[in-house]
Amino acid sequence: MKFIRIPLGIYQANCYVVSDEETKKTAIIDPGGDFNTLKQVIEEKKLSVECVILTHAHADHIGAVLDLKNHCDIEIMVHDGDYDMLKNKRINHSDVMGNRIIEMEADKKLKDNDTISVGNMEFIVIHTPGHSKGSICLKIDNVVFTGDTLFAGSIGRTDLKGGSFKEIIKSIKEKLMILSEDTKVYPGHGPSTTIKEEKENNPFLQ
Ligand SMILES: [Zn+2]
Ligand SMILES: [Zn+2]
Repeated sequence: MKFIRIPLGIYQANCYVVSDEETKKTAIIDPGGDFNTLKQVIEEKKLSVECVILTHAHADHIGAVLDLKNHCDIEIMVHDGDYDMLKNKRINHSDVMGNRIIEMEADKKLKDNDTISVGNMEFIVIHTPGHSKGSICLKIDNVVFTGDTLFAGSIGRTDLKGGSFKEIIKSIKEKLMILSEDTKVYPGHGPSTTIKEEKENNPFLQ
């Protein structure tokens, strides 16, 4: 497993392009925008994109989904709890945020503990509601992609539709802080961190 981080879109949400080195089969996590940048990377590295996995369906994480769907033969995956959000520009905020209206049906609804196989890679879906109802984190090997649930030194906002402060804290404490302390955390915005670092220093978790 090998991945690159590309901040995309006007909100520079982290898009992670995760590839199986042997088969070149690839999953794209949160393509927030700038489809052409993404397309260039895919072509340059000769990646075979199999799916887009959304950590949640807010506008800043989905800007290039429609173009990717039209350009590659891929499956779009989102948690059941954010399925309707992806279909509605007012709920996903793409009517006011970003520069592309996104209203589409996902191909696959995810639930807690699902595994997603891409080449020789296996992602485990961890449902972590709180930032949105259908927010998920994705664990693979010693890495967890946390979307807008957990950031380095912070947590996601909980004032948008479906958000809950109580729930996000519960999700982080019960579903992420139980992971091995050396697990590397790659959030939806900003720099990477580790479970140990957040357990010890994240002010929301003390
Ligand atoms: Zn968000
Ligand atoms: Zn975001």
